[in-house]
Amino acid sequence: MIIVMHPDARQADIAAVEAKIRAHGLDVHISRGTERTLIGAVGDERKLDPEMFDPLPGVERSLHILKPYKLVAREWHKASTVIDVAGVKIGGDDVQVIGGPCSVETPPQMDAAAAAVAAAGARLMRGGAFKPRTSPYAFQGKGVEGLTMLKDAAGKHGLPIVTELMDVRMLDTFLAQGVDVIQIGTRNMQNFDLLKEVGKVDVPVILKRGMSATIAEWLMAAEYVAAGGNHKIILCERGIRTFETAYRNVLDVTAVPVLKKETHLPVIVDPSHAGGKAWMVPALSCAAVAAGADGLLIEVHPCPTEAWCDADQALTPAEFAALMTRLDAVARAVGRTLGASSRPAAADVETAFA
Ligand code: PEP
Ligand code: MN
Repeated sequence: MIIVMHPDARQADIAAVEAKIRAHGLDVHISRGTERTLIGAVGDERKLDPEMFDPLPGVERSLHILKPYKLVAREWHKASTVIDVAGVKIGGDDVQVIGGPCSVETPPQMDAAAAAVAAAGARLMRGGAFKPRTSPYAFQGKGVEGLTMLKDAAGKHGLPIVTELMDVRMLDTFLAQGVDVIQIGTRNMQNFDLLKEVGKVDVPVILKRGMSATIAEWLMAAEYVAAGGNHKIILCERGIRTFETAYRNVLDVTAVPVLKKETHLPVIVDPSHAGGKAWMVPALSCAAVAAGADGLLIEVHPCPTEAWCDADQALTPAEFAALMTRLDAVARAVGRTLGASSRPAAADVETAFA
């Protein structure tokens, strides 16, 4: 059972709910978010009933959640969660695009990438400073220096930054460097210690789908983050492993509507790591937005042929700008808008064509 406390519930109200749950022999899990506290009763729920909690001071409502994942389930939170990333809203009417290179390489590369991302109208920038590479001999990322390069380049265009955290020991550095969104990559989706640590901070998290994870496993991983008190979680479908070898991964478009039904969290799609080839990215991006994705994570490099990592799948600045225009049309076709900093508002375009 989950007991949703009022945003202004007092500590004494929370303690009273906790005492009541314990008196019935169940365990208590308290998730203190920045907006509200959620109290989970863990154990034989048949002993509890919403009527026991609803009249208590500070309780907004209580309910039994049938799913194994609780805090992230849409069952108790019918409205879609909108996450504010330094003023950019993810999960609302706007479809947000996060663009940038696979990895941070040099200041000129990052400056050119940031300029391209901003010019195309995307609102957030990505770039890996710590790279999870299959080979220990491959480029491992620029590390802390890379975080600075990303922050500096993106900052010149007012773009919040998204970057991958692989090791809990780097979390404090990420916070100190002002990382706006912490990305947990596919290889760490079930790194439970890492999930617990990012669950303790007040920074939005993009949780990528494990390459062989079921939707239930993925949502349980998100539950780890939420259970720690960080409710700002964005799920990212990035393709799954199948028997098919014609592309890097299979983009599971079906996951988008299924997740939207199962969870209130925003869902975005990474078409770059799904297809693995730049030419596939536009079609997969359009499919994702048409299916209801709240955003896209797209690799863009000023000169893809010279990229130090994932060269085959990066878009050029021109390809990215052209894709943004197509996505604008797809977003409108499904009743959304493309969150873009420098694109004309829908109303202006209609006037222009009137
Ligand atoms: C990435 O986005 O840079 C990345 C490594 O992706 P994934 O974890 O999905 O492979
Ligand atoms: Mn990559």
